[in-house]
Amino acid sequence: MTQYTIAVLDGDGIGPEIIAEAMKVLDVVQQYSTASFDCQHLPFGAGAYFSHGKSFPEETKVACDQADAILKGPIGLNFEDSKKIPIDEQPERGALLPLRRRYDTYANFRPISLPQSMANFSPLRPEIIGEGIDILMVRELVGGVYFGAKKRGVNADNKRYVTEALEYDEDQIRRILVVAFNQAKKRKGVLHNIHKNNVLMSSVLWNEILDEVAVDFPEVKVIHMLVDAAATHLCLNPRQFDVMVMENMFGDILSDQGGGILGSLGLMPSACMGDKVSYYEPSHGSAPDIAGKNMANPYSMIGSVALMLDMSFGMTREATAVWQAMQGVFADGFTTADLAGSADSEKLITTEAFGDRVVAKLTELLA
Ligand code: NAD
Repeated sequence: MTQYTIAVLDGDGIGPEIIAEAMKVLDVVQQYSTASFDCQHLPFGAGAYFSHGKSFPEETKVACDQADAILKGPIGLNFEDSKKIPIDEQPERGALLPLRRRYDTYANFRPISLPQSMANFSPLRPEIIGEGIDILMVRELVGGVYFGAKKRGVNADNKRYVTEALEYDEDQIRRILVVAFNQAKKRKGVLHNIHKNNVLMSSVLWNEILDEVAVDFPEVKVIHMLVDAAATHLCLNPRQFDVMVMENMFGDILSDQGGGILGSLGLMPSACMGDKVSYYEPSHGSAPDIAGKNMANPYSMIGSVALMLDMSFGMTREATAVWQAMQGVFADGFTTADLAGSADSEKLITTEAFGDRVVAKLTELLA
């Protein structure tokens, strides 16, 4: 029996609802494998600020330091409520970016995957989706403008101004490119490099380093694409992509577009990998508009569990079964509200009911 400690950050909005479904899935995995999970629920995000005065409290840091993996629900409040928290403690600045920095989780894997059995969820035409979409976006997660020096002030003309620096050093660029090349090598041998070297010096350096790294991966074909063009291609011909690599902010935005072409952000899990510590979270936010209504899609959260089982614990069989179980629920014709379209109302299921159906299928698969 191998025991894993998991720091569970329930988060805000729909976070606790979708984490609850993820916990049910972990219980089944534990029942039918040689692993056991010690899940410690910890305050993190806006709720933590109100209860503990910090959005990333000390006790959470200590527990995360000691965990084998971190499972994180989305955090954040709606626009108006965010103003109740001082700027530095607002969830992204006070908790999310410090979490990423603390564990140096530089490699963000965002699978944009839609098997053919779920193709009807996409807003794209069937001839564009073809046999389905299977893209891996590899996003640099601890550099760029989100982490660069920031300054606000009043200039000589008495105007308020702001500067935010887009900063990368060559080691930061090299390590994420190596991750992406390795993924491309494992998959189809094609890597789309997404950049903006016609405007940004950071992209010029990025591409220079890419040429150096490429020497070690002669079997990988590199295709260069400007980020603005990539946004269009993602809608018009997503099947041309297999592995895409890009800097932090490009990846933030393009991966949400990825959720759009699948049909919902609720289909977007992710893995945030560091060399020592990794954490797993849905790509989306806390969806305050649907929080507390039992209508969030937990696929992204349960998918993040599958990524954790596979990438942190080497439990590939169990991870594959989790994907099969979730996709099986959709294949039976059930749908969550975000994907409902014109579905029959008896096939429309709640967050909890989706989790229950996944549990039933997973039990059959693993028993
Ligand atoms: P959002 O991702 O929370 O929601 C965008 C839209 O997608 C909403 O209509 C929402 O209902 C829907 N949606 C998202 N996840 C869904 C799911 N699992 N099932 C069904 N529908 C889902 O983006 P937002 O509204 O711009 O942001 C809300 C809050 O989340 C903000 O405070 C923002 O800062 C924060 N945020 C946090 C993270 C994170 O924790 N990593 C990421 C992005 C945004």
